[in-house]
Amino acid sequence: MRAIVLDDDRVRLDLNRSIPVREPGEALIRVLYSGVCNTDLELVKGYMGYRGVMGHEFVGRVEEADDPGMMGKRVTGEINLPCHDCGYCQSDKGNHCPNRKVLGILGKDGAFAEYATLPVSNLHIVPDEISDKDAVFTEPLAAAFRIIEQVDINEDTTVMVMGDGKLGLLIAQAMGATGCNLTVAGRHPDRLDHLKQNGINTILVNNKDKTPETEILYDLVVEATGSKNGFNMALDLVRPEGTIALKSTVADTASIDTNRLVINEVTMIGSRCGPFTKALSAMKDGSVKTDWLVNETVPLDNGLRALELAERRDTIKILISMD
Ligand SMILES: [Zn+2]
Ligand SMILES: [Zn+2]
Repeated sequence: MRAIVLDDDRVRLDLNRSIPVREPGEALIRVLYSGVCNTDLELVKGYMGYRGVMGHEFVGRVEEADDPGMMGKRVTGEINLPCHDCGYCQSDKGNHCPNRKVLGILGKDGAFAEYATLPVSNLHIVPDEISDKDAVFTEPLAAAFRIIEQVDINEDTTVMVMGDGKLGLLIAQAMGATGCNLTVAGRHPDRLDHLKQNGINTILVNNKDKTPETEILYDLVVEATGSKNGFNMALDLVRPEGTIALKSTVADTASIDTNRLVINEVTMIGSRCGPFTKALSAMKDGSVKTDWLVNETVPLDNGLRALELAERRDTIKILISMD
């Protein structure tokens, strides 16, 4: 099969990769579309030291599984493969299993390929109302909804989302669905206009290293800029006793002024993978829309081009089509 493979810090299109063999409990999935995420771009720069087939955001059809009821189903999949044995796994926190593999990120070949395997227990059937291309957003949208599981948010909560990139725009929409008092700071007027039309306050940032000027400090600041300065800017924007949620993973991390965390008694939370069922239902009922986020769909044969395009500042989401 064809696959985009990362080895020795080099990405290449492999035209002769073996089709993955499913382990017990796994399904073989024929991938339809994959999405390029910032994490993929960071992996290429050396984050996690990953080697193997890239890609963790996908939609596909089950081609082989033990359960005949799964055959042919259109699915997306959770990316963590826990060991099911350790203390974390036994207390239902498999996402934090120290022995886990992660699709296309850690020890498990990913979905920038014609075929991928995942445990059937990781799969979610995509409702008919959701298009193939929208379904690719399930994983990153679930990550956006994770913050809502971690922090109490109501309509009085003032929330600042920093960043109008791929993840920032999903977080903005997930937050918007809570009815909170939401502001999004970003660098792209067209994207901010789109949010404004949906009733979200926006701030245009001209200098990515300068904290946007705001009239208030926020209860919750979500850092999704992907910039190494993001955390320190979030510290400028959060109120005393407020919360900063970090969503960016960058290969190059900045030093953090921890004194300000202490003095202002700021809570800092890391936030990673989230609930797929919430993401799917938000796309199904239309409260989150993702079609406007896709700039281009690139065929797998041209997959390296997809990574180049995703790196550009003027693109939001690049998809890879496997046909
Ligand atoms: Zn991702
Ligand atoms: Zn485990």
